[in-house]
Amino acid sequence: MVLVLNSSFEPLNLTSWKRAIVLLLKEKAQVLSNRVIRLLDYVKVPLSKIVAQKPSRAMIYKRDNHTCQYCGSTKKLTIDHVIPKCRGGQDTWENLVVACSSCNTKKGHTLLEQTGMKLARKPRPPYNKMQFILSNTSIQEWREYTF
Ligand SMILES: [Zn+2]
Repeated sequence: MVLVLNSSFEPLNLTSWKRAIVLLLKEKAQVLSNRVIRLLDYVKVPLSKIVAQKPSRAMIYKRDNHTCQYCGSTKKLTIDHVIPKCRGGQDTWENLVVACSSCNTKKGHTLLEQTGMKLARKPRPPYNKMQFILSNTSIQEWREYTF
């Protein structure tokens, strides 16, 4: 199988080599590596259901790779609301991150700016289901394109 990336380098889907070659012959895509091609024109993708859904704890853990987003710890993990619930923070992809219990306690009900703590990366919804599929792949070339 070949991984098809959007022109923005975001994973779109998996396809057969046969179909990939057709795309290449039609000059609609370029080869990035043995198992990765990239479309030359940007394809608009409707937001997948996964993004519309309220994220589950498991999904947040998976997105954040079971790593505290403040200190990088992989132990005693909890889910932290970046904007605390008591300040109107919601259960959204953008507001939930994995945090170890000590960072979570340290942060408490304060806003990020007031703590001097920094997120490893801006929390965001997974672009699409492909991201989740790819996060489990053993194919190194594909891993590069996961979030
Ligand atoms: Zn931590």
